[in-house]
Amino acid sequence: MSEVEVHVLASGSKGNCTVIKKENSVILYDVGISCRRIVNGLKDLHIDMQEIEGIFISHEHSDHICGLKQILKKYDIPVYTKQHTWREIQDKLMVPKEQLIPLTKGSLTLGRLTVEAFSVSHDAADPIGINVFGGSDKVTILTDTGTVNDEILGRLDDTTLFVLEANYDPHMLKFGPYQPFLKQRVASELGHLSNEMAAQTLLMMKRPKFMQVILAHRSENNNNPVLVTRTIGQMLVDGGVKIGPEMKLQHGQPNEIISMIGGKRK
Ligand SMILES: [Zn+2]
Ligand SMILES: [Zn+2]
Repeated sequence: MSEVEVHVLASGSKGNCTVIKKENSVILYDVGISCRRIVNGLKDLHIDMQEIEGIFISHEHSDHICGLKQILKKYDIPVYTKQHTWREIQDKLMVPKEQLIPLTKGSLTLGRLTVEAFSVSHDAADPIGINVFGGSDKVTILTDTGTVNDEILGRLDDTTLFVLEANYDPHMLKFGPYQPFLKQRVASELGHLSNEMAAQTLLMMKRPKFMQVILAHRSENNNNPVLVTRTIGQMLVDGGVKIGPEMKLQHGQPNEIISMIGGKRK
């Protein structure tokens, strides 16, 4: 199959990892689950860990990096991230320097995939989201951001395969179990996107005729699948989006593999 494939292996505060593949080019975005789980998840997709051409890291929070040390012990895979993030990771994990490559401006091509990073708004050293271009598809992964500013919005133009954060429901967050400082952190501009903000993002962005969306990084305390479907679905319908013909929406359990296959139409 020559289409771009996106497989979310895990998503949420207990760990994040996404596979992006086109033909024999495969990259990982975040490795916040154990090396063993990643290897097994890849096996389910008939991908060998040896095929991974690069690992991209969004930011240094442990739900995005906790498998990295073990991976680097066992495999010789280059890891790309921003300079400041790279320093934080070295301090946290004591990983060997040689495998970490600082991401600079511009794009990076690994086989059939071209990757561009962009800055997001989160309480980390230098957090990023990514665009990945392959054939007629544009993949965007945007999680762990407290806001979608104009600069981020511009990066979403014509995304055909979108992994988008829908972290919390404001009402559940407000009346939920978190300490006040943590509630404030989640809802701040350096926190996470709510269901409403995810829907607004989809409504505001320049959309292609058909796009696929995986709603990701859902909070287990401050959100649930029913609210994600109801709130976002309703806002999109009210905004004039034809769900089905124009947009396919998916979300699932934190540990379940959720996939999107690109190409003209699916
Ligand atoms: Zn984070
Ligand atoms: Zn996170």
